[in-house]
This record gives sequence, C-alpha cells and structure tokens, in this order.
Amino acid sequence: PERMKTGPLVGAIDQGTSSTRFLVFNAKTAELISQHHVEIKQHFPKEGWVEQDPEEILQSVYECMERTCEKLGQLDIDVSNIKAVGVTNQRETTLVWDKETGAPLYNAIVWLDLRTQSTVERLIDKTPGKSKNHLKHKTGLPISTYFSAVKLRWLMDNVEEVAEAVLTHRAMFGTVDSWLIWCLTGGRSGGVHVTDVTNASRTMLFNIHTLNWDPELCRYFDVPMEILAEVKSSSEIYGSLSSGSLAGVPISGCLGDQSAALVGQMCFQDGQAKNTYGTGCFLLRNTGVEPVMSDHGLLTTVAYKLGKDTPAYYALEGSVAIAGAVVRWLKDNMGIIRSSAEIEKLAGDVGSSYGCYFVPAFSGLYAPYWEPSARGIICGLTQFTNRSHLAFAALEAVCFQTREILDAMNQDYGVPLSQLQVDGGMTTNRLLMQLQADILCVPVVKPSMSETTALGVAMAAGAAKGVGVWSLAPGDLATVPTERYQPQINTEESEFRYARWKKAVQKAMNWEIT
Ligand code: ADP
Repeated sequence: PERMKTGPLVGAIDQGTSSTRFLVFNAKTAELISQHHVEIKQHFPKEGWVEQDPEEILQSVYECMERTCEKLGQLDIDVSNIKAVGVTNQRETTLVWDKETGAPLYNAIVWLDLRTQSTVERLIDKTPGKSKNHLKHKTGLPISTYFSAVKLRWLMDNVEEVAEAVLTHRAMFGTVDSWLIWCLTGGRSGGVHVTDVTNASRTMLFNIHTLNWDPELCRYFDVPMEILAEVKSSSEIYGSLSSGSLAGVPISGCLGDQSAALVGQMCFQDGQAKNTYGTGCFLLRNTGVEPVMSDHGLLTTVAYKLGKDTPAYYALEGSVAIAGAVVRWLKDNMGIIRSSAEIEKLAGDVGSSYGCYFVPAFSGLYAPYWEPSARGIICGLTQFTNRSHLAFAALEAVCFQTREILDAMNQDYGVPLSQLQVDGGMTTNRLLMQLQADILCVPVVKPSMSETTALGVAMAAGAAKGVGVWSLAPGDLATVPTERYQPQINTEESEFRYARWKKAVQKAMNWEIT
C-alpha cells in the first residue's frame, strides 16, 4: 500500500530524570505525530545518593525510538520521513565509561546527588573569603554538589575502575547527552564524543565567555582534559544513528533540557522567560548575547547556540531541586497518594494548607540560597492537619520556591516579568497552576502542546545546516493555543503566606551541623 507522505519529520530524544521519551514532530507545522515514553529507575544506595544505570538509560532510548517507529507504521507513516534526530537531557548527571569496552565504569551520578557535600565544603573553605562564588566569574555557577565537576572528582577518587581507566587513557567523561550520542553513533566502533555548549556550561569545567573547556578550572578539579568531549554548538550534524530503524539519520541537535524548553517556548528575545516543572523546577530568562552575572543567587548559563557560526545566547537561571519530586515522595515514601495526578484532588478537597508549611529541602536548597546543609521540614502542624493539608502545602512549596526565584530574577534583570510561561509534567495540575498565579501575582501561561522540551531540540535538529527541514519561523508559534491562569487572591493575602514561607525556610537552613 502507498505510504502516507507527511513531509519531513524530526525526532527528539528527551532523556529526563524520571523518564525517557522519543517524540516525532512534523517539521512544517510543529505538530506532535507520535511518541513513546518509559519510566527510569532511580537508585538511592545511601542517604542523599541518587544514581541511575547508564545501560538502562541507553536501552530506554532504543526502546522509545523503536516503539515510536512501530506506532508510525501503524499510522501508515514511513519512518524514512524522519530527517533528523535531536537529543535533550537531564543536565549535570555525570558518567564515566571505558572507550575500549564501551562499558560504563559506574552508575550515573544524578544531579540531585549529595555525596559530594563534604568535598564542596572543603573546596569552599580553601577559597579566599570562603566564597562559594570563587569560580563564578568563569562558570556563572557557585561551587555546589549540583554540577558535574565535583561528581567526576568523586568518581576518580572513589571508584578504582574509573581511576584506572583515567590513568590508562581509556576513560571518557560525559553528561547524559555525550553518553547517548557516543553510543548511538556507534560507541566503541566509531562513536563521536561530543557535547553542546549548554550541557558543557553545567559542568564547572567550562568557560562560558570563551565557550571552551578551561585549563585552569580543569587543574582546579584535577581533571585531565583528554577525558572531555568535544564541545559543539546546539544545532549541527554531530554524526548519524548507527543502528535500529533510524540507522543513517543524522543527530543534529543537542540541548540541556532547560535550554530546550526555552527554545521550545520560543523565548528568543532578551527578557523572555519560562519555568519548567518536572522533578525540579527551572526558571530561565533569556538575557541575549551577553552573560548577566547575578547578585541574588541565580546562575548564569549558556541558553543555546543554534549553529556553528551563530552567537551564543545566555540565560539567568533559578534552579529548584525538588518540585515534582516532592509529589513523588508523598507517593513513594509516604503512600498518601497512589499516583502523582491524585495530589490535585487531595489538595483540592481543602483548598488551603491551613497554616501548614512544607519546605522540601531534601537535597539542600538550591537558588537563591545554595545551602547544601538545609533539610526538609514540615511545620505549623495542629490537631486539625490532615493529609490533604500536607498535599496542599507540598504544591504551595513548589509555587513559593518559584516566587523566590522570580523575585531574585526581577532584581537581577531590572525589568519585572509580566507573565510566566510554563511547561513540564506538573503543569497538567490546574490547581498548582492557579496557586502559582496567586502566589506570583502575575498570570501564568501554558501552551496546550506541553512537550516544549522535545519540541525545542527537534527545532534545533531540524534547522541544522545540512538538514534544513524545520521551516517554522519563531513568530508562528505565537498563535499556539494557551491556557491562562489569572491571579485570583489579593496581593495582601499572597504576601502574608509568602512571608510565613520565608520563615519556614529559615528553619530548614543549616539543619545539619557539620
Ligand atoms: P522530568 O523531566 O524531571 O523527568 P517530568 O516533566 O516528566 O519530569 O515531570 C515528572 C514529575 O512531575 C514527577 O516528579 C511527578 O511526580 C510530577 N507530576 C506529574 N504529574 C503531576 C500532577 N498531575 N501533579 C503534580 N505533580 C505531577
């Protein structure tokens, strides 16, 4: 039978903290044609440790690609219409593998992992003035457990196989994008070892001004430069898929997940911002071609560089470690809900936390505090408090944390944001979105196509030189249907609740006496 002619399609691998997806978009209309996703296991071998199996990550990608191709077949769409594939990924998560055997030498250390807390404290203690911002002028980042360099240092110091492979020049280090692209382009038989500027900018080894690995930073963390990937732009052909139903298709887009969401939300103008609610919560504001350094605890990061010969754009970023993860915790650890979606009904039953505040500082506090010794607290409990109030307090925590980031962002950037564009798994929760508008006192706007992360990297892949199938102009998506949430409570009430939240945060700080 005659197969359907769809015009060019572009695939996006979206490898997140909680799941892996493969999505196929129509390059002319940005329409989502088909997708498949699988959950990813997280291992917690010790308190504060978070690991994932690199082989499971890779297999999940193959599975998602193959299943999506089958689904396309069922729709009578020929997979040869897929002209390019892009990779977007959880950032900072750190892997080391052996380039001769192709095997990972340890589990992936996930961005949330806290095992490097003592290393981080030691490094900060050694800096003049004991400042966590010692490397900020080059990296845009504070010294923290969050970024890859300290995780890599831990691997070299604590895993014999890694130390040995480094000594014998067989080690390759990479974030998830590098691991996937190396494996997908052939691994030990011809795989390319690359990363893009956005992922590189989260390692603490990368100079965000020169857009190169920085020899001084590498010396500081004692990382041999030969184990690093070649840094490329976010949109160019890196190599081709070496096997499977899409063998031969170029991989031509690579963006860290938050950068991809910024692109997918079409935030190409200076001052535009988006907030993504997944495992954590990440608010990025495009600041144009010049990096803006924060005085209020935000990060400066490379937003995207869409081609070899185009300039890099920068963003101010506010990162919150625990957002959707608090919902998962209520489900997996406390058992008060059976699915993440259930929290909306449970919290909606009461419509207020009744004075209960929940600071989910499970992995310390990220922006704007950067306090690794903070720990979670629930306070303001009374005889009256029940699981619905707790659920409500958990959702409010996500909104308050975003408010703290937005306040810092407005101060650093100078111009207050007039509305917030949102996306990510949690944004299906309407109660959460309304709460967010109430707590920010600005409208919250959600595109009806919520897969903006995948869309962003599909655009980068489809627009790459030598592919050139993505024909959508940025203006076209302005007409995308959106849901709008207007603030409904008065500013006074909102401020009162926010002030109480801030008090709760103070109680969560410096919990661990070191
Ligand atoms: P990631 O990209 O970090 O893997 P996703 O964007 O897939 O994350 O979002 C998954 C997270 O969102 C999970 O932590 C989950 O608990 C949370 N989540 C999913 N649906 C809902 C919902 N309806 N209400 C609240 N949280 C939700």
